[in-house]
Amino acid sequence: MKYPKIQNFINGQFVNASTSRKLDVISPIDGTLLSSVPMSSTDDLNTAVDAAKKAFVQWSKTPIKERVQVFYRYKTLLEKNLKELAELVQEENGKTYSEAVAEVEKSIELTEFACSLPQLITGELLEVSRGIECRTEHVPLGIVASIVPFNFPSMVPNWTIPNALALGNCMIIKPSEKVPLSTGRLAELLKEAGLPNGVLNIVHGDVEIVEAICDHPDIEAVSFVGSTKVAKIVYQRATHNYKRCLALGGAKNHLMVLPDAIPAMTAQNVVTSMSGCAGQRCMAASAMVGVGNVDHIIDKICEEARKIVPGKNLGAVINKESQEKIEQYITQAEKQGAKILVDGRNAKVAGKEKGTYVGPTVIDYVTPDMAVATEEIFGPVISIIRTKTVDEALAIENANPYGNAASVFTQNGGMARYIIDKASAGMIGVNVGVPVPREPFSFGGWNDSKFGVGDITGKSSIEFWTKLKKSTIKWSPDAGINWMS
Ligand code: NAD
Repeated sequence: MKYPKIQNFINGQFVNASTSRKLDVISPIDGTLLSSVPMSSTDDLNTAVDAAKKAFVQWSKTPIKERVQVFYRYKTLLEKNLKELAELVQEENGKTYSEAVAEVEKSIELTEFACSLPQLITGELLEVSRGIECRTEHVPLGIVASIVPFNFPSMVPNWTIPNALALGNCMIIKPSEKVPLSTGRLAELLKEAGLPNGVLNIVHGDVEIVEAICDHPDIEAVSFVGSTKVAKIVYQRATHNYKRCLALGGAKNHLMVLPDAIPAMTAQNVVTSMSGCAGQRCMAASAMVGVGNVDHIIDKICEEARKIVPGKNLGAVINKESQEKIEQYITQAEKQGAKILVDGRNAKVAGKEKGTYVGPTVIDYVTPDMAVATEEIFGPVISIIRTKTVDEALAIENANPYGNAASVFTQNGGMARYIIDKASAGMIGVNVGVPVPREPFSFGGWNDSKFGVGDITGKSSIEFWTKLKKSTIKWSPDAGINWMS
């Protein structure tokens, strides 16, 4: 094993889980055994929650301007350790080094936003009657939880940790069992930055811990990022227990390409969107709807896709199971009559035979009923569906149950506006293949891509991580009495 066995992080210390059940952590790059991760029990969660409850007493009383000082230092530490953090992300997730660097850079940007929270959460105050004022303040919830997926081992934990903690909460985070290493390193850096013990706790595990989080009476709010199947389970269970819950799910993002789109730029954006992070992004382009004659653009897309080489500028997919599933989707589409223009099956990387790679794949003449048109593939695959009109393209986009992102490629501003209005997705791109809003704009999809109110990042997250206290105050006995008194 390259790294020591992974431990939970409770009350500022790395500690063993109470169970002996564990899973191997394997690098998708070459199959190296990196470590083992404990499958903790409900007892471990209870210990973490107790530590968080103790820490909350002081942390919630610390003024926000003091709390964010920890995150200014954390940001500097992320910058200082960027290379090491990116290497860890690359190793456990399989993405390329430059993609891992971008992920850590995004973590830095998320932390910068958290540092700006004192500027954003000032309450309101108004003299509502003579001598009587009403004021509002954002109050932390208490103990909150964050359950995260495998595809962004640094960025997704940083969607929740800096904001939730800067706003005065204490957190239990449950990393993905597939990529558990990065979160531990983030916790170490937060400790080095001066985060008091118990404010952030890590409990590793799988279904048992997630269920225990949803059931724990002292956890006030649960945020979840992962597949739609599990997002639904978590949202139902947490809200059944009267918790606040925001559960982000999977996606099937449509790019609508019109004949007037700039060919080179469109092709580059489509291919980057579908193959970046080996297609394992919830914002990845998965279906392209070509409206009218876009053959000249499809030719360029194939040209661009052939420049993407596994093990060089294309990372691995997370594991063998995922590799096989992606290849099955391609084979099934081929059998159903779709045309494979660029075929990424049976990809091999010399010297990394145990790595799990799929090459870039372009499938043309996909019909809307095929699985490659409707299901999240989560691999470097683009399914091209042909339509005659923009309204037909929109009908296909609207019919898909997800709603994370949609993009249009055109030079016609009026048409772009029409598609912005009609697409049923939370994040829309115009000539942008991965329309992730950058801070301070918030991130979040619609439909089956998100359950709960508000978004997980940006200003919207303030409402999720706090509750509003409204006070009505009268000091002067001479203040008037009126019908509201
Ligand atoms: P996943 O749903 O399998 O796992 C997410 C988390 O849930 C993990 O921590 C896992 O341990 C836990 N989990 C898995 N099965 C569970 C179950 N039955 N009960 C309770 N907990 C369970 O997701 P993943 O494979 O790690 O990540 C990929 C998925 O995440 C894709 O669908 C992707 O689109 C989605 N994702 C969405 C967003 C977004 O913003 N909408 C962002 C990143 C990833």
